[in-house]
Amino acid sequence: MVLRLSTLFLRTLREDPAEAEVASHRLLLRAGYIRRAAPGIYSWLPLGLKVLARVEAIIREEMDAIGAQEVHFPALLPKEPYEATNRWTEYGEGIFRLKDRKEADYLLAPTHEEMFTLLVKDLYNSYKDLPLSLYQIQTKYRDEARPRAGLLRGREFIMKDSYSFDIDDAGLERSYELHREAYLRIFSRLGLEVIPVAATAGAMGGSRSEEFLHPSEIGEDTFVVSDGGYAANVEAVTTVVPPHMDYDDAPAAEVRDTPDTPTIETLVDHANVAVPRTDRAWTAADTLKNVVLVAVLPTGERELVVVGVPGDRNVDLKRIEANIGGHLSVSGEVSVEAATDEDLKKHPGLVKGYIGPGLSADTAVLGSRGSTRLTFLVDPRVVPGTTWVTGANVRGKHVFGLVAGRDFTWDGVIESVEVRAGDEAPDGSGPLRTRRGIEMGHIFQLGRKYAEALHLKVLDQNGKLTTVTMGSYGVGVTRAVAALVESNRDDKGILWPRNVAPADIHLVATGKGEEIFAAAEQLAGELEGRGLTVLYDDRQKVSPGVKFGDAELIGVPTIVVVGRGLADGVVEVKDRLSGTSENVPVDDVAGHLQALVSA
Ligand code: ATP
Ligand code: MG
Repeated sequence: MVLRLSTLFLRTLREDPAEAEVASHRLLLRAGYIRRAAPGIYSWLPLGLKVLARVEAIIREEMDAIGAQEVHFPALLPKEPYEATNRWTEYGEGIFRLKDRKEADYLLAPTHEEMFTLLVKDLYNSYKDLPLSLYQIQTKYRDEARPRAGLLRGREFIMKDSYSFDIDDAGLERSYELHREAYLRIFSRLGLEVIPVAATAGAMGGSRSEEFLHPSEIGEDTFVVSDGGYAANVEAVTTVVPPHMDYDDAPAAEVRDTPDTPTIETLVDHANVAVPRTDRAWTAADTLKNVVLVAVLPTGERELVVVGVPGDRNVDLKRIEANIGGHLSVSGEVSVEAATDEDLKKHPGLVKGYIGPGLSADTAVLGSRGSTRLTFLVDPRVVPGTTWVTGANVRGKHVFGLVAGRDFTWDGVIESVEVRAGDEAPDGSGPLRTRRGIEMGHIFQLGRKYAEALHLKVLDQNGKLTTVTMGSYGVGVTRAVAALVESNRDDKGILWPRNVAPADIHLVATGKGEEIFAAAEQLAGELEGRGLTVLYDDRQKVSPGVKFGDAELIGVPTIVVVGRGLADGVVEVKDRLSGTSENVPVDDVAGHLQALVSA
């Protein structure tokens, strides 16, 4: 195929568009791959569609190779199946809802577990039909709170999602492994480095789960790795819990005046002057910091929750979000934010800067959620027998020597503080290092949650009805296009990996002579005949500088220049990746390029 720049629907931009925050967004706009239609919603132009199609083709091949079969669901779906699984509510503000002319509720699908489950239920009824894996490459809609970074977090985006159906756990394990391996092959063929990390299952429920993270400074996910091979999203890291301590000999807790000590720092300074320890100085780690948070439930309700953490650690809202649902007996997406002064005022028992679990059950406001009391959760480091300095619920007073398990209890233990570099990996494989990444794919074992909710059962070997077990597997297709640009670029433009470039060769004719254009035209035809895709810059009245600038911006890895050298029988072949160039005799160049492309 030959795409001629004289007619191609393309306008490159010289200036960086103001709307673009990250490099991939900037370059995809400037090089004419996408245009913005609304926040987080993009139109695809001819060059963009070429790249997208190549990414999709690789994904399709690898899904087909593990025996998954492609189907295609509507994006516009009725509410009922999502009500059956409770996701109509659980998704909260995260989905686009609409009504038809008869006032019936619909949604634009954020993901399709329900539809796949129902389709299989419709058509299959025996263990002999399983295992089965189905997939689609389809547009998803999510009303993301913060659409950002162009294609990286869109409100409309393309996902490849697949679902496996098995009769038993061993089958699910196999289907999961097959997908895991297929994903590694997909990302390797795309030229996108990914690290599979342990993940939490989030709103989907289920057990084993991994994310494929592309290391990148602009990624929204923080993950940790150890030299011993542990890798996990911070949301999934479990704290190494200290042993429970014996508190038989611990002295009684004591309330002390600590005027003007509303922060951990002022408290520690005060303690070191007024109540110095004999063994060592007080540190922030000796204090229990009780942080008031607001959990925004899927129904939109705001519930105050208090989390007690060692004072030397900061809370990590994402880690709390990933783990809090169970503690509040809600399923679905719960978002967590810091409580405002307004929130605090609603609970007169909460004395800002001096909040604590309290010494007496009558006055306590923390623990045992009820009309006047708040759910109180603690970090796993707060084990029975540990001793703390913490607020006395009175302005200017703290309690010293408060023993966990003796003087106070809690409603639950939650992973709630930032994972730090140097923390120990939970599997004992050494200290952790933190990195940032972009989530490219997510696989998880859903188990029977959806099959149960939607009654997907088949007859087993003994003729007994058995609930099917499922896996769910997603790849962000449009996000992959952006991530590829993020990691394959220089100051001039994009540097596409060959497998996904919009063309194999960017052919530039420069100069005024008709023979130059004739030779370029002939070369374009010859390359096309060899099955290559050629982006041919045949524009007559455009300067060489502009043509080279566009070629570098667009990012096809091989640029061929037919120009001055033609008089000596050569054309210039430039390699965008290495920055090198060589003169190749015009008669040999088609074969040379074909070898290059298929190498
Ligand atoms: P994230 O944590 O980034 O919001 P997610 O956990 O919601 O992702 P999944 O529901 O597992 O994502 O969806 C599967 C894949 O779809 C993700 O791994 C990601 O690559 C892609 N994806 C999810 N949300 C978006 C989005 N808003 N824009 C582009 N791609 C997305
Ligand atoms: Mg999401």
